[in-house]
Amino acid sequence: MSSVHFLCSQCEQRLGRDAGEASRPCDFCGAANIVVAPDADAIIDRCAACGHDQLYFQKDFNRKTGIALVVLGSIFVPWTYGLSLLGVTILDYIVWRIVKDVIVCYECQAVHRGYPANPSLKPFDLVIHDRHVYGSAPPGAEEGSHH
Ligand SMILES: [Zn+2]
Ligand SMILES: [Zn+2]
Repeated sequence: MSSVHFLCSQCEQRLGRDAGEASRPCDFCGAANIVVAPDADAIIDRCAACGHDQLYFQKDFNRKTGIALVVLGSIFVPWTYGLSLLGVTILDYIVWRIVKDVIVCYECQAVHRGYPANPSLKPFDLVIHDRHVYGSAPPGAEEGSHH
């Protein structure tokens, strides 16, 4: 199921809309809201919540995944005692295989889950993030970049 999760612009509660669902007012405060989730096979190139066109993708570490990882980790501990680097590598690989990417908006942090990967998107970039948070010339950005 494809969905978009975003914050209500008025009460800042987290709202979710599934693909195919009609827009509706905020579930919490009733503020008008026109956000709808794009079709499940849509390539996400702009934010469904605010229309911003700078997005990034990241692994979908929600609560359920986190618990699964702790369980997985505890299974691997006896094997990897003294071989922790190997264990981490294996765990990394498993995480990479089972955890899907979500597409996130730099501007409003809306999360687009369950959509096909958009090849033009890049992973999270702190410099771009800072540009959104602090404006075009974040202090210390030059030292932080690799140019
Ligand atoms: Zn609200
Ligand atoms: Zn947005």
